[in-house]
Amino acid sequence: MTKEASREQTAKAQADEGGRQARDDAQGKEEKEQRQPQRAEVSNYEIVSHYFGKAAERLDLDEDIASVLRSSYREVQVQIPVKQNDGKIHVYAGYRVQHNGARGPYKGGIRFHPEVDLDEVRALAELMTWKTAIVGIPYGGAKGGVNVNPKQLEEGERQSVARSFMDKIEKVLGPTRDIPAPDVGTNAQTMAWLMDEYGKLHGHTPACVTGKPIALEGSYGREAATGRGVVYMYREAAPLLDLKPSETSFVVQGFGNVGSWAARIMQQLGSKMVGVSDAEGAIHSEDGIDADKLGEIIDDGGTVTDYDGAEQLPPDDLIELECDVFIPAALGGMIHKQNADRLNARMVVEGANSPTTPAADDILAGNDVLVVPDVMANAGGVVVSYFEWVQNLQHFRWDEREVNDRLGRMMRKAFREVSARAKEGDVPLRVAAYEQGIERVVEAASTRGYLD
Ligand code: NAD
Repeated sequence: MTKEASREQTAKAQADEGGRQARDDAQGKEEKEQRQPQRAEVSNYEIVSHYFGKAAERLDLDEDIASVLRSSYREVQVQIPVKQNDGKIHVYAGYRVQHNGARGPYKGGIRFHPEVDLDEVRALAELMTWKTAIVGIPYGGAKGGVNVNPKQLEEGERQSVARSFMDKIEKVLGPTRDIPAPDVGTNAQTMAWLMDEYGKLHGHTPACVTGKPIALEGSYGREAATGRGVVYMYREAAPLLDLKPSETSFVVQGFGNVGSWAARIMQQLGSKMVGVSDAEGAIHSEDGIDADKLGEIIDDGGTVTDYDGAEQLPPDDLIELECDVFIPAALGGMIHKQNADRLNARMVVEGANSPTTPAADDILAGNDVLVVPDVMANAGGVVVSYFEWVQNLQHFRWDEREVNDRLGRMMRKAFREVSARAKEGDVPLRVAAYEQGIERVVEAASTRGYLD
């Protein structure tokens, strides 16, 4: 079955589960799907494997070592039966993949999304291994997910899914083993439920998950961290294109956690958001869209199309808006062979994971678009997750300024190391970043004796 067919089947299975009031009627749903930009048929796993292969070849990595690094250390798949408010038991699939733990405990988010499958989680886990190594924090790489649509569930049902998932996977988790965090479709509240469930079995253990609410030993600055990190990356890259923040226009694809914070912080620098989208639609305005105002609309349960003072456009056309910086912050595979040529920006800072397929990456390079790759650009979240874990282990809290300053230092260091390497090897930032990450993981694994 092709990936597209499997996505359709998952979507259909979700739709068939019946009865939820929030669900669109069949015709409305079809129309909405037609308005959404298509994702590439190439899978996240193929994207990550391609970039790994390219860097491994340049590093002249032995084939046997490359095959250790290509495969996951552990892949867990569990059944999550949840009795929902319609009185029926719904069965979801939950995954936790631990890719490589040479540099420290496994670390990576948990995603609640109907398209989650093992292939995607595997790819995202591998990406985390390279990401934590690139920014130099002492973690390995992992990822988790449940193929549930959280928007179709009541809060109590979401809580049941989260707790049931934790019950099934807690044996492979823990502050010195594997530490989950939020990702698409999960948030601080989800992490609170996961921590509470873990605590029932192991005693109060705040360091078992990060991205928790402030009231439960979460870290100041964690919610905005990935978006803030994206902006630190833009600031480092801007001089390469002679871009000044106060004269920069930008477009955000996916106004969720990452996209909305990136937009708010870009705006604080004086930059102007001229286009933005979410899963429901897209808007644009030459005069600028106020990211704070839009954030309030979203927090109140609205969508980007509820914003007054901007024109709607087909989400597929967002990529064509003329701007300096395009920030993909939705899902993987959104910039692909069919639309990369239409991208009308000078720089792409990848907030999302795997938003650009290899074919699209080549097209962007041919069009002189500077791409700051996901594996470094969106590492701000895991960096502040690391700070949260450190604070939890010490039961001591830093103030937000300290968190943000430390984040800035780590992101700038990562950018400078990677860009120096890119310059030296005359390769794109992405290849240099993968090389850096792989090299550090190989060194740690060899020093442990794992590769002897
Ligand atoms: P989120 O669920 O908060 O936001 C995702 C946003 O994308 C939502 O606004 C959603 O409506 C929108 N979206 C979904 N499908 C879309 C489509 N077809 N077109 C346009 N918009 C669409 O998720 P998030 O945590 O902000 O994560 C976004 C991306 O960033 C993911 O790729 C995730 O893996 C990556 N990421 C997140 C973090 C983090 O700390 N949250 C860290 C690193 C990377």
